[in-house]
Amino acid sequence: CVKDAPKEEFLAEREPPIDEKGQEKPAGQPIKIGFSMDTLLEERWLKDRDLFKESIEALGAEVEILAANGNDALQILQAEKLISEGVDLLVIVPHNAEATAAVVHKAHQAGIKVVAYDRLVKNADIDLYISFDNEKVGELQAQAMLEEAPKGNYVYLGGAETDNNAHMMKKGVYNVLQPLIDKGDIKIVYDQWTQDWAPENAKENMAAALSANGGKVDAVIAANDATAGGALEALKGYGLAEKIPVAGQDAELAGIQRIVQGTQTMTVYKPIKTLAKETAELAVALAKGEKVAVNRKVHNGKAEVPAVFLSPVRVDGTNLEDTVIADGFHSETAIYGPQ
Ligand code: BGC
Repeated sequence: CVKDAPKEEFLAEREPPIDEKGQEKPAGQPIKIGFSMDTLLEERWLKDRDLFKESIEALGAEVEILAANGNDALQILQAEKLISEGVDLLVIVPHNAEATAAVVHKAHQAGIKVVAYDRLVKNADIDLYISFDNEKVGELQAQAMLEEAPKGNYVYLGGAETDNNAHMMKKGVYNVLQPLIDKGDIKIVYDQWTQDWAPENAKENMAAALSANGGKVDAVIAANDATAGGALEALKGYGLAEKIPVAGQDAELAGIQRIVQGTQTMTVYKPIKTLAKETAELAVALAKGEKVAVNRKVHNGKAEVPAVFLSPVRVDGTNLEDTVIADGFHSETAIYGPQ
């Protein structure tokens, strides 16, 4: 279990914070963190933004947040702006795992450490990576689908190929399904990435999967709730909504409502509050040149990156109360409407 994994200490190797003139930061001046986000066009990232800001400010630090809404070139420009303003540390949610490596290099040249938030930056010497156990997300989805459909035709609608998380999630799905594929119980009749995680692309892919298989699909694993929503649009056209199990991820309000209505079987809840709070604490500590504890090392193509993995939680109709509602992630009114 990730939670119980022994924590290991590592010492940040770079110098203590310097300001834009290359001087030691004067004592008493607040630490300033730059937060470069891929997008604010999806529900979960609005939560990440608000909770991260709250957590940083609760530590007496400051944060400047810029979001690129899926535009790689813009995200790089925005991150460069934060670097040139002399933030003490940069936290990044990369839209493109590879393209953002250049930003890390620039930050380091300016003596600024970089933390990858939720999504890994590949092929760069990043200082820390913090996320949920994304392989586990895929495993939880596949396990839940097998309970509903132990045999049959499975469709896998992956996330964006440019997002390392999408690869980890897919790995998790296949960790669970492969033995059954080998046995002949499960057949993967369709497996595609979803460009930019966009619901309309997932809908198109689902329609292609249905038409290629004459509607003979027994389970759909969508990499997140947005893509599950897109898939359901296509399933409706075949009269299959509510008839076959569908998995998603994020515990988005729309996903939770579909669980209540019976069109989506499960989702994977990732407590964003914990991610935001832990990242804020680690980022401020690293910015001060302090030691931080990690529970993993992840190879990103270039380096063994110190990492912290949090645990995702399976959510279905049986545990809404104890998970998303108990945590205040969604209110009962939001889910069920005014009673
Ligand atoms: C995140 C998911 C999110 C997806 C699309 C992934 O990297 O882990 O929670 O749904 O990006 O934004």
